[in-house]
Amino acid sequence: MKKEYAKMDAASLHLANKKVVLKLIKHNSQISRSALAKESGLTPPSITRIVDELINVDGLVESLGVGNSSGGRPPMIVKFKNENNYIIGIDLGATYIRGCMVDLNANFISEIQVPTELEKGFTSIVDKVIKMIHKLQSRKEASAKIWGVGIGVAGLVNSKTGIIESSPDFGWTNIDLRKELENHLDLPFFYDNSTRLMALGELKMGAKENQKNFAVINIGYGIASGLVVEGNLLKGFSGFAGEFGHIPVDTDSDVQCKCGMYGCLEALASGHRIASLGKQALAENRSEILKELCMGNAELITAELVARAAKKGDPASMKIYDDVAEYLCKGIGTIANLLNPETVYIGGGISLNGDLLFDLIDQKRDKYLLAGNARVNIQPSTFGDQATSIGAVSVVLNKILNLELSGNMVEI
Ligand SMILES: [Zn+2]
Repeated sequence: MKKEYAKMDAASLHLANKKVVLKLIKHNSQISRSALAKESGLTPPSITRIVDELINVDGLVESLGVGNSSGGRPPMIVKFKNENNYIIGIDLGATYIRGCMVDLNANFISEIQVPTELEKGFTSIVDKVIKMIHKLQSRKEASAKIWGVGIGVAGLVNSKTGIIESSPDFGWTNIDLRKELENHLDLPFFYDNSTRLMALGELKMGAKENQKNFAVINIGYGIASGLVVEGNLLKGFSGFAGEFGHIPVDTDSDVQCKCGMYGCLEALASGHRIASLGKQALAENRSEILKELCMGNAELITAELVARAAKKGDPASMKIYDDVAEYLCKGIGTIANLLNPETVYIGGGISLNGDLLFDLIDQKRDKYLLAGNARVNIQPSTFGDQATSIGAVSVVLNKILNLELSGNMVEI
């Protein structure tokens, strides 16, 4: 029994050392074996063994041969093998499904976007995701490897089981998307809430270095947030932290939210709400500009079209965005006063309509911020409409760098 523990400890220690070496190589792009020994504190024979494994077993490192020497033995240079090693990230949104394939340095290799067409139902959506992954796979070299697929979905997603416990945007309850996809594709899949992934992508690849406290707000069909506190993504007791869309911003409101409550931020300021207020303005004949833009067809009115009408000076559309900005500032004030973030990033479809919303937020924000939080930056998310897919990619990259996908636990 004692011997077994000793064996396990040696294996764990080896794995921990291997992770350190892999991260050093990734961080430096290229590094000599002797510099690796110096930076990691491991002995040259240990470095040789670990690097050889990373080259020959894991396929994550390659040897560049002998470098230039300034006297003494020439250095043996190794490099992080980002080429021909790919990750797929999917943003499964209620309006669009976006997919990308990136290399291990997050360089884009290929991107695809298709409309979700919610009304066609679950089977059609699953079919679209499968086709998208096949298409992305077909764009890689035959010898290249896809390490895994990260998928972001709007709603309450159990990242351990991959079950979408509830997604009001899709009208799904306890949907086992993982099972459906794994029946068709032999790849490791990882799931999480789309906004939490936006925050993870911002943390790992976007937000300026050393930024440890920030929020990402996703304003699209619904509203949600991903919160980073002291450098950690906040998950909460059951993994459902960040339901920013359901904080009440007007307790007298008679607008009922999808969650059943009245006056939630999502009910009053989401893309869905903006479009429905635009349709109402058209029906009540209050907007000539909107009527012109949608050619009299209410079905064509989207939040983006209302933004275009507002920019053309339409008073009814301007009022819609003005009210929405007021509610959002109330919500942002709540987050900022509670968590004291350095930055609040705004992503999602509504954030892509230019300066209109950000200018209105700038005018109103200070009303809702305590003096100590007044310096908070409010700005668009770093990756625009790719924010969720970049976050989905980050999940898989984390697993790769922690050697959780190599499947090659080494016997000691
Ligand atoms: Zn609600």
